[in-house]
Amino acid sequence: MCGIFGIESHADAANLAYLGLYALQHRGQESAGIVSWDGQRMHVERGMGEVADIFDEAVLSRLAGDSAIGHTRYSTAGTSMLANAQPIVVMTSMGPLGIVHNGNLVNAVEIRQRLERDGSIFQTTSDTEVVLHLMARSPRADVVESLMVALGEVRGAYSLLLQAEGCLVAARDPFGFRPLMLGDADGSPCFASEVGAFDLIDAKPVRELKPGEIVVSRGGELEFYRLPQVPQPTRCIFEHVYFARPDSVVFGDAVSEVRLRLGSQLAKESAVEADLVSPVPDSGVFAALGYSRASGIPFEFGLIRNHYVGRTFIEPRNAIRHFGVKVKLNPVRPLIEGRRVILVDDSIVRGTTSRKIVKMVRDAGATEVHVRISSPPTAWPCRYGIDTPNRSELIAANQTVEEICGFIEADSLAYLSMDGMLGSVSGEPGSYCTACFSGEYRVPMSREDERQHTLFPIRTEGSE
Ligand code: AMP
Repeated sequence: MCGIFGIESHADAANLAYLGLYALQHRGQESAGIVSWDGQRMHVERGMGEVADIFDEAVLSRLAGDSAIGHTRYSTAGTSMLANAQPIVVMTSMGPLGIVHNGNLVNAVEIRQRLERDGSIFQTTSDTEVVLHLMARSPRADVVESLMVALGEVRGAYSLLLQAEGCLVAARDPFGFRPLMLGDADGSPCFASEVGAFDLIDAKPVRELKPGEIVVSRGGELEFYRLPQVPQPTRCIFEHVYFARPDSVVFGDAVSEVRLRLGSQLAKESAVEADLVSPVPDSGVFAALGYSRASGIPFEFGLIRNHYVGRTFIEPRNAIRHFGVKVKLNPVRPLIEGRRVILVDDSIVRGTTSRKIVKMVRDAGATEVHVRISSPPTAWPCRYGIDTPNRSELIAANQTVEEICGFIEADSLAYLSMDGMLGSVSGEPGSYCTACFSGEYRVPMSREDERQHTLFPIRTEGSE
């Protein structure tokens, strides 16, 4: 989970990067940063919190230059602290390098231990820094060549941007786990995790980078390279289910359309009589709409979300727990009172939020509450960059659907089938990563990385 944005050969690079990050805020709210290159020097500004809290005119004015990359972060590897905020910038014999990364490497710990034994000193605990170290040690003098050497060693999920002297490099891992788009802002090449960032700055989306593709922008001119190919891509289906903005186009499909299909398929698979369909906003909105259209049961906003509170689950501090679901969601009583409600959400992780929402809707007077989930049970942790807790905390890893229904105190609970989910996207079923639902990890994690992940699980505090 992270949002990345970059633009090259534009007089207003840092300002546009800031706006791009604004549009990618949903991909991470823990920290944000921008590095710019002015032809002589790199400038970097990073901070904890949201984009709007970190950047103002004074900060942006320090980011001189016509090339910039930026990042919004939610940590999946490495702990939450300013040192881990990206971009990470280092000095090398190739000049200064800045990097931003979305995804998670599955052999970073192994490589890091080897490099540390050889004397490398790491500045951060983030997996991303490994790429810079590998580049710095590479015997090649050229940035692109040494990046290719480094990427030949790391495994896992990465969409990344690299700011170097005189060029901006974008790379997507050979499996294509995470999205990365190429755009055109009035002749200036730009890159973003999602097209929403281009819309905001009036840039045109050109295309998605291919899995394993490297695109270099140098003075506004593009060069294209390829990493060794893998038999088939493994694109994260959870981007469609939950993570991406519904106004984005991811892996060739409009996210809104996919979510409508997930919802209508869910209605076909697990119909139930009710008076209204309500989403758990915002993640359930399009699936609920699809459910309503397919079932003919009216769509209503039975719950209202307070948009001024950070997104559920992403805020890592313990304290938020106690504010509970109420700080984010509130029922619309007149819609719910005396009625049978179908609640549509995209996933259940720990089940604690769902349980509170069901109770909230019941307390508002619903006579029945039926929960419908627009993906299969989340029974396995993600190793490729989505923030999910350990298996022991995933309710679907430990309980049957019936037991989960009992835990969340719903009248009924149904999940979408795996085939139903894969039938809602246009790519070949085998070209998506479904590890969080199936446990099928196509890119295995190294033993050292696995150990580290178990010892220091990702610090999600759940969505309460
Ligand atoms: P819970 O019922 O406590 O498991 O929380 C479920 C809620 O968490 C659903 O509304 C999901 O939209 C949301 N959710 C699922 N996966 C994630 C994630 N990786 N990050 C943030 N929220 C998530």
